[in-house]
Amino acid sequence: MKAEILCVGTELLLGDIINTNAAYIARELANIGIDVYYQTVVGDNNGRLKESLALAFSRADIVVMTGGLGPTYDDLTKETVADYFHKKMIMDDASLKSIEGFFYRLKRPMTENNKKQAMMPEGAAIFPNANGTAPGLAVSENGKTAILLPGPPAEMRPMFQDAVLPYLMKFSDKVLLSHNIRIFGMGESRVEEMLYDLMKNSTNPTIAPYAKAGEVTLRVTAAAETTEECEKMIAPTIKKIEAVIGKYIYGIDVPDIQTATVKELIRKKVTVATAESCTGGLVSERITEVPGASEIFGCGVCSYANEIKHRVLGVSEETLAKYGAVSEQTAREMAGGVRKLAGADIGVSTTGIAGPGGGTPEKPVGLVYIGIDSDKLTTVLKLNINYHKADERTYIRHMTAQNVFR
Ligand code: ATP
Ligand code: MG
Repeated sequence: MKAEILCVGTELLLGDIINTNAAYIARELANIGIDVYYQTVVGDNNGRLKESLALAFSRADIVVMTGGLGPTYDDLTKETVADYFHKKMIMDDASLKSIEGFFYRLKRPMTENNKKQAMMPEGAAIFPNANGTAPGLAVSENGKTAILLPGPPAEMRPMFQDAVLPYLMKFSDKVLLSHNIRIFGMGESRVEEMLYDLMKNSTNPTIAPYAKAGEVTLRVTAAAETTEECEKMIAPTIKKIEAVIGKYIYGIDVPDIQTATVKELIRKKVTVATAESCTGGLVSERITEVPGASEIFGCGVCSYANEIKHRVLGVSEETLAKYGAVSEQTAREMAGGVRKLAGADIGVSTTGIAGPGGGTPEKPVGLVYIGIDSDKLTTVLKLNINYHKADERTYIRHMTAQNVFR
């Protein structure tokens, strides 16, 4: 199977930007055994683009293109390809919804020409864009396939990993295998900094980072003749990653942190009970989301009011009066109280200031205490959660629950 890379953009021709997309795509295609004999750069010009496309398809089965998927008049890759394949442009409702969602999340108004980015050649396969507005796409006819990707590398690369690679595997005689390393307690930039050399030089296997809601996932992917070969290629890379950031890894190929924690508790036959204030049941909800949680989860008390903290959990009135509900002392007594109430091995508590109101200079919004009480250990974790103004309450509650499973 032969492919060509065709990058569109006058800035590339003028030397204003370096064609890193071509280098990236070339490496990725080589990994999965697809040969590339030509790379072309063409400006934002309909006629020359069509010429380049025809030339590329005279030599190759697949043409991978980047650039010119934006909303403005000079972005014409999609229209040119549709024209080349004699396909009508039609509105793709799923893409339109996702573009609308993108603008909604950024709280920016969507302009009429952004809708153009949801217009697709009839019959195209669509690759969603998690980091921008322009979806990618593939158009096929008579054994010729054009793959169109957005120009910005930060959009193109994740799309390539998530959607294009799996799509291309049908043209390859190799198999693709990934393992997902799940990380909590360090941000994406810190992960990248610590693993810089390993990630920068990763080709086969590749290491792709994904960040979401305070978590990072590293997806390690190999392509080889067989699955066993892939496993053999991936194993040393995972070892190297573990050697550097091992204590932040909570699992490999586990869906989320609560699943990892609950499974571990089930395996060790350790029971747990929760006393939640600022998270209002979020932690219990997360625990019970995991199948089999009944083996280790006794009860959760949503002790929002001080009176309940005192009456149900046995937090002393002196503690509440002297230190307040959001304090190390209260967290400790809540955890101890609920453990006794449930007869569990471990008691866990949360108390904090989730905002938007209620913060003081001594106890600012984002201050959270997590109490842990067991036979072996009683401890309180103090957190100052950095938050974004817009969704502070949701975010602080979410991060508190995340930290409980740490
Ligand atoms: P946009 O929606 O931003 O207009 P697009 O898909 O239309 O995206 P272009 O307008 O061609 O893409 O390029 C947008 C930006 O992406 C460029 O300014 C450049 O920073 C980057 N870019 C484009 N092509 C490449 C490339 N081949 N290599 C590296 N970066 C590129
Ligand atoms: Mg553009």
